Amino acid sequence: MEPFNRPYMTGREFVYIAEAHANGMLAGDGPFTKHCHEHLQKQFGVHAALLTHSCTAALELSALLARIEPGDEVIMPSYTFTSTANAFVLRGGVPVFVDIRPDTLNLDETLVEAAITARTKAIVPVHYAGVACEMDTLLDIARRHRLMVIEDAAQGVGSAYHGKPLGSLGDLGCLSFHETKNVISGEGGALLTNDEALAARAEIIREKGTNRSAFFRGQVDKYTWVDVGSSYLPGELIAAFLWAQLQQGDDITRRRLGIWRHYHEALAPLEERGWLRRPIVPAGCVHNAHMYYVLLPSLAARQEVIRRMRERGVSPVFHYVPLHSAPAGLRFGRTATPMTHTDTLSERLLRLPLWIGVDRELVIDTFSSVCAEVCGSR
Ligand SMILES: *Cc1c(COP(=O)(O)O)cnc(C)c1O
Repeated sequence: MEPFNRPYMTGREFVYIAEAHANGMLAGDGPFTKHCHEHLQKQFGVHAALLTHSCTAALELSALLARIEPGDEVIMPSYTFTSTANAFVLRGGVPVFVDIRPDTLNLDETLVEAAITARTKAIVPVHYAGVACEMDTLLDIARRHRLMVIEDAAQGVGSAYHGKPLGSLGDLGCLSFHETKNVISGEGGALLTNDEALAARAEIIREKGTNRSAFFRGQVDKYTWVDVGSSYLPGELIAAFLWAQLQQGDDITRRRLGIWRHYHEALAPLEERGWLRRPIVPAGCVHNAHMYYVLLPSLAARQEVIRRMRERGVSPVFHYVPLHSAPAGLRFGRTATPMTHTDTLSERLLRLPLWIGVDRELVIDTFSSVCAEVCGSR
């Protein structure tokens, strides 16, 4: 069975983990964490990068930094992972769901302004499949209404919008290094910001509400509890693993792009026949080949393609159940627009296995013949 995902290892992970073991320093913010922070600050051109346990943790940290209080509203797509919404729901916030654009499946920026109320605190663009949201428009709306922009760039490591890395454009950016993403550490993430005040407070919240980080830099002579907080920092073994991956980040993106382009070219004739729609990458967006998806004609066609591909040993998957229609979404959130594109496109979307080492010919041959059987006979 060709699996849907297999994590890629650079070969240096064990070397650095052994080094961390020999250093005898296993808690967070040791030498490997510092290497990762400096690397991310440079790669993303941001004032501060802080490793977290996950993108989920970075989003939770963002909700605390945005001072979300019960009843505060946060505008986001419904077509996303649960963590985008949960981070704010945990603080009593209300996810306000806006429909997506049919081309990129990203938040439809033209619908955002009408969804703003007196309770709105933040906009959370999710860069689906590592393709950027229309950030110029969203940042302009946020500036005019004094809202924070918190990027869910979980899928966007290595992508850019008009030359700027995703995750570096908003007030806060959240990255994921989960093993299903491009650059990985098993579980892992980071928070990025260009705002010095937010960075200083993030450091405190991440370290259990203490000024421990400033203490270690010699900026205060004792460390104490100064704010709310939790533990969001990973240990050094995770940072050591991640350090190996970050060093190979460009190579990982290049190799994934090779597979993505192979799929994209091979599926052009199927699109011409009207059997599917391929991903659309708008001008100004450079993507990281996080994902290859197609949109099939209907839910029934999608389900049948998945069933027949699995029978032939290839595992495609689909996602997401739109949050506004999920039990917790109905309970904690509300919709601000009709959810037409969210509802129809999420039913038609199919993801092909895309990982370094995947049998790309097998995936394309299997998908093409199954797609012809299912879509060609309509
Ligand atoms: C993967 C993902 C997350 C969660 O990332 P973790 O690191 O697993 O917490 C959040 N949002 C989106 C859009 C994701 O794809």
